[in-house]
Amino acid sequence: MNPLLLLYSHCVIVKGASRSVICDLQRRKIHPVPDSFVSLFTEDRYCNVSEIHSQLDDEGKEVLNEYLEFMEEHELAFYCSFEELPLFPKMAEEWLFPAHISHCILDAEQDLFYFDKGFLQQLENLCCNFIQFRFFKEVSFTELYRIMELVASSQIKSVEIILPYTEEDNFYQNIELLVRKYRKISSLTITGASSTKIHKEGNYGMGFILQTDQLIDSELHCGVIHNSLFSINIPTYTESLQFNSCLHRKIGIDKTGNIKNCPSMKESYGNITSTPLQEAVYHPEFKKYWTLHKEEITKCKDCEFRHVCTDCRAYLDDPENIYSAPLKCGYDPYTCSWEEWSTNPLKQEAIYHYKMKEFIAV
Ligand code: SF4
Ligand code: SF4
Repeated sequence: MNPLLLLYSHCVIVKGASRSVICDLQRRKIHPVPDSFVSLFTEDRYCNVSEIHSQLDDEGKEVLNEYLEFMEEHELAFYCSFEELPLFPKMAEEWLFPAHISHCILDAEQDLFYFDKGFLQQLENLCCNFIQFRFFKEVSFTELYRIMELVASSQIKSVEIILPYTEEDNFYQNIELLVRKYRKISSLTITGASSTKIHKEGNYGMGFILQTDQLIDSELHCGVIHNSLFSINIPTYTESLQFNSCLHRKIGIDKTGNIKNCPSMKESYGNITSTPLQEAVYHPEFKKYWTLHKEEITKCKDCEFRHVCTDCRAYLDDPENIYSAPLKCGYDPYTCSWEEWSTNPLKQEAIYHYKMKEFIAV
């Protein structure tokens, strides 16, 4: 039998304060494992099984065998010889994306007065691929069709739309018609609905209609960290090694037209009525959060989920410290447990600071 157990290159170990995880970046799964087990693997991703076996008593061998079976069963690793090791190099960890800006968030109360051909051209000049529209109040179908007609003939690849439920006749039928007509809609989420569910499944990651009973009526609702939102894939992993997991290559325009890193951030780089997007992006301060990665953030740097988790720089445990952990994270990497973030006594001051008390209490 070959003596070495070698991790597949897309299965990476991330060590946390109290345990580790193996992230299978192709199958999009995370497997928690004890530190004692991952410490058997060398920097070159292999574990010398025969050598370790020879050092263990019967009980130790039994435990090790259970883990080895687990690794094989989930296809996280395979056996090979020393001679074969060079045939299986490490996964490249560089992150490249051909765009100045990849994502754009546009907030609006009811309409996007500035969204026209000229504005889209500005986004295209930045090579932006993805737009998220967030309407906090009732938006007319006339406005939605106007926006989507412009998007349809642009280089934008996909859009997400978030809008509130309204009582008007045939609301759901009209939503379905809109999503069916415009194939660039990856998801449309109806907020303040009677229940939370998938209203209509999409195909190949596009055309989903979702609904939630939560009313999203301001940017304060953004920034929630939850394990259901983890993004377990190679681009997220490699980007997180060097860049911020939320704000890197992102631009946002808040509901009053201020251009920001995201609509919730306090710094504004001008208003869309008077400042071109390109001018805002090339402002010397605009990219200051882009390279603030998880290894620099309090608590996250000790968390085993740090390379699959999103980040939030707008709402922090300590609003005065840009290296502070996201406020809306209830995970404790020292005890490996999740708790409700909004009731944590240590977060109440920040909740008050961001004026979130009201919507949390609802
Ligand atoms: S920084 Fe926070 S509030 Fe802004 S887009 Fe990211 S998660 Fe949302
Ligand atoms: S501690 Fe940080 S990395 Fe871990 S789940 Fe919370 S926000 Fe994500």
